[in-house]
Amino acid sequence: MNNTLKFLIELQEIDRQLFEIDEKKGSLPQQVEKLETQAESVKSELETTRSTLEENQKELVSIKGALMDSEEKVKKYQDQLYLVTTNREYDALTNEIETVKSEMSVGEGRQLYLESEIEKLEEIIATSEEQSTAFVEQLDANRDELKEKSDLTDARQEELEAQRIELIKNVGQRYLRKYDRILKARRRAVVPIERGSCTGCHKQLNPQTIYEIQQMDAFIECENCGRILVILPGEDD
Ligand SMILES: [Zn+2]
Repeated sequence: MNNTLKFLIELQEIDRQLFEIDEKKGSLPQQVEKLETQAESVKSELETTRSTLEENQKELVSIKGALMDSEEKVKKYQDQLYLVTTNREYDALTNEIETVKSEMSVGEGRQLYLESEIEKLEEIIATSEEQSTAFVEQLDANRDELKEKSDLTDARQEELEAQRIELIKNVGQRYLRKYDRILKARRRAVVPIERGSCTGCHKQLNPQTIYEIQQMDAFIECENCGRILVILPGEDD
C-alpha cells in the first residue's frame, strides 16, 4: 500500500480517538452541574419545610396563650356568677361563658391539628436532612471521580496529539489538506472497499476504479462521497 495512505489510516485512528475524547469531555461538566442542581433542590425543599414548621410552632404558641387567657376569662365569669343579683345579669354572664367556651373549642381543634402537623414536618425534615447529607456526599464523590476521569482523559489527549504531530510529518501538505477537508465533512476520510462498494456511502464502484485502487499508487476518491478509497490487506475485491 502507498505509504501516505498507510499514514493517513493511522492518522484517522488517532483523530477518531481524539473525537471521542472531545465528545466525552463535553458531557463531564454537565453531569456535575446536574448533580449540583439536584442537591440545590433538596436543600431548598428542606428550607421551605423548615419555615413551614417554624410558622406552625409560632401559631401553636399563640393559640396556647389564647387558650390560657380564655380559661382565665371563664374562671373569672364563673366567680362573678356567685355575685350577680338579677336573672338578666346571670343570663348575660352565662352567654359570655358559652361564647368563650365555643371559641376555646375551635382553638383546641386548631391546637391538635398543629401538633400533628408539627410532628409530621419534623419527621419529613429528619428524612430530608439524611437525604441531603447522602446527596452531598454522593455529589462530592462523583465530582472527584469526574475530575480523576478528566485528568486521565487530558493525559490521553496530549499523548494522541503528540503522536499526531509526529505522524503528519510523514504526509505531504497537499494530502493532509485533502484528508482534513474530507474528515471535516464526512467524519471518516479514508475508507476501505468491501465487496466492490465504498464503505463510506455504500455505492457500488466500477471495475476500473477498483483496478486503480488495487494499484495503490494514487489517491482514488469515491465518485459519490469523495472519500479516499483503500483496499485493506485480506480484502480481495
Ligand atoms: Zn463513497
